[in-house]
Amino acid sequence: MIPLLKVENLKLHSRDSDGLSFLAVDGVSFELNPGEILGITGQIGSGKSSLAQGVTGFLRAPLSHTSGEVRIEGKSIFDLDASSLRCSVLGKKIALIPQNAILSLPRFRKIKDFALDVVRSHYPNMTAREAGERIQERFRQIGLEPNSLLDGYPSELTPLLAPQVVIAVATLMNPAILIVDELTSQPGPCMDLLLRIKSQEIVRSLILCSKNSEVLKKFCTRIAVMCAGEFVEQGATEQIIEDPKHPYTQIILHQGMDKILPLTRTTQSCRFASSCPHAQPDCYLVRQLMRTVADRDVKCMYAQ
Ligand code: SF4
Repeated sequence: MIPLLKVENLKLHSRDSDGLSFLAVDGVSFELNPGEILGITGQIGSGKSSLAQGVTGFLRAPLSHTSGEVRIEGKSIFDLDASSLRCSVLGKKIALIPQNAILSLPRFRKIKDFALDVVRSHYPNMTAREAGERIQERFRQIGLEPNSLLDGYPSELTPLLAPQVVIAVATLMNPAILIVDELTSQPGPCMDLLLRIKSQEIVRSLILCSKNSEVLKKFCTRIAVMCAGEFVEQGATEQIIEDPKHPYTQIILHQGMDKILPLTRTTQSCRFASSCPHAQPDCYLVRQLMRTVADRDVKCMYAQ
C-alpha cells in the first residue's frame, strides 16, 4: 500500500538570528497512513514548525529545501512548480494550520469574504453564490453556526471560537492531510472539532505538533519526538508516553517541555550529549543512528 504521506531523509536549511545557516530539519523520515493521527513533539526550537512547513513543500524564507523527498500519495511535491503546488496540492491534498494562525486572520475582513477567497482561489470558475453555499454547508456540517460567524470579523471571535473557525476555513477543500501546529495547547472543543472532521472524512489523517503530553496521549496513534532537528524516537503512543526509551524523551515528558536543555547541532556526536544524564565518552564521538529498541525507533546507542 502506498502511504498517504512519505517523508524520506528530509533536510531543510534555515538561518538563525545572526544570519548563520543551520539544518533546521536534519534527515527526518516517516510515513503517514490513512486514518492515522501522528503527534510530533519536542521543545521550542526542536524543528517541529520547520518540518510542518517543509512537508507541505511551500517554504517561506529563511527555510529552504536542501535534500530529501516528500511524497503525497506517491507523488513528489518537490517536482512541482509553485503554481501546480498551489493549485493542486495545497489545501486539497495537504493543509497546514501554522502557529499563530489566529493572529494572521485578516482582522478587518468579514470571515465570509476571507473564506470565499480561499474557495475561489482553488475553483476560479465557481460563482460567489456557489462558493458561499459550500462554505455555509461546511460550517453547518461541522457544528458551527454559519450565519452569525460568517458575517462577523475575526476580531470579534472568542478565544474558544477563533481556532474552530481557522480549522473550518483550512479544511474547506477537504485536504487529505491536515497539519496543526500548536493551534491549541489543551484538549477541548478545538480537539473535538479536529476529531469530528476526521470522523466525517473531511480529512483522512492528521499531524499534530504539540508540546502537551495530554493532547498527544489522548488523540495520537503514533508519536515522533524531535530534538535539534532530528527525530530521536518514534513509535506507538503508549510506547512513547508510558515507556520512553530515549533520554531526551524521558526528560521532556517527565520534567516538562519548557525546561531549557543545551543541545548541539554537530554532526559528529549525539546532539543530546551535553544534557544527557547517561552520556558516555563515546557519545561525544559518534553520530547516532536510528535503531529498533522495544518495537520503536530510537536514536541512542545505549537505549534498552
Ligand atoms: S547516545 Fe549517549 S548522550 Fe546520546 S542520548 Fe544516548 S546515552 Fe545520551
